[in-house]
Amino acid sequence: MIFVGLGANLPSRYGRPEQTVKAAIAALAAAGVEIVATSGLWRSAPVPVSDDPWYCNAVVSVRTDITSGALLEVLQNIEKDFGREDTARNAPRVIDLDLLVFNNEIIDTESLTLPHPRMHERAFVLIPLREISPEWVHPFMNKTIDEMLSVLEGEQRLVPVADGA
Ligand code: ADP
Ligand code: MG
Repeated sequence: MIFVGLGANLPSRYGRPEQTVKAAIAALAAAGVEIVATSGLWRSAPVPVSDDPWYCNAVVSVRTDITSGALLEVLQNIEKDFGREDTARNAPRVIDLDLLVFNNEIIDTESLTLPHPRMHERAFVLIPLREISPEWVHPFMNKTIDEMLSVLEGEQRLVPVADGA
């Protein structure tokens, strides 16, 4: 299974973060990456807590024949095309596309770490992921999504976006 996480908290040429996230999913499909399942859209408070605008988040599962490195490049090209500036980690952004999981690959290079090194501590990743793949188990932590969420103790604020938003 291959999962991509999306996040946006600044307006883009597509409009509000909800619209940007939907447009980024469409851009992934247009790049030839088959979208297998899409979570709902969620709104999340910035992690770590700050006064930055709340994020819109989603997770998709995809199918593709290209390598994990090539898929990361596809994601980065979409970020660039959507007007993402080079900013610090956790800084507000028009779109963030993270390669969360690529089958059972476990790698740690300068440009790509799999599974994504912070996914297990982010409710805005785990809750959308649970919607589309509730049985998924982290390949080296050997933990289910519910087990990873239980240690977060609901401290990260996350609300579903109403249909049609
Ligand atoms: P964050 O998403 O944690 O806020 P950034 O998007 O700013 O951080 O970080 C992008 C950098 O992280 C890129 O240089 C990219 O090569 C690297 N990176 C390493 N592993 C991954 C991954 N699994 N998915 C996306 N980017 C990754
Ligand atoms: Mg990123």
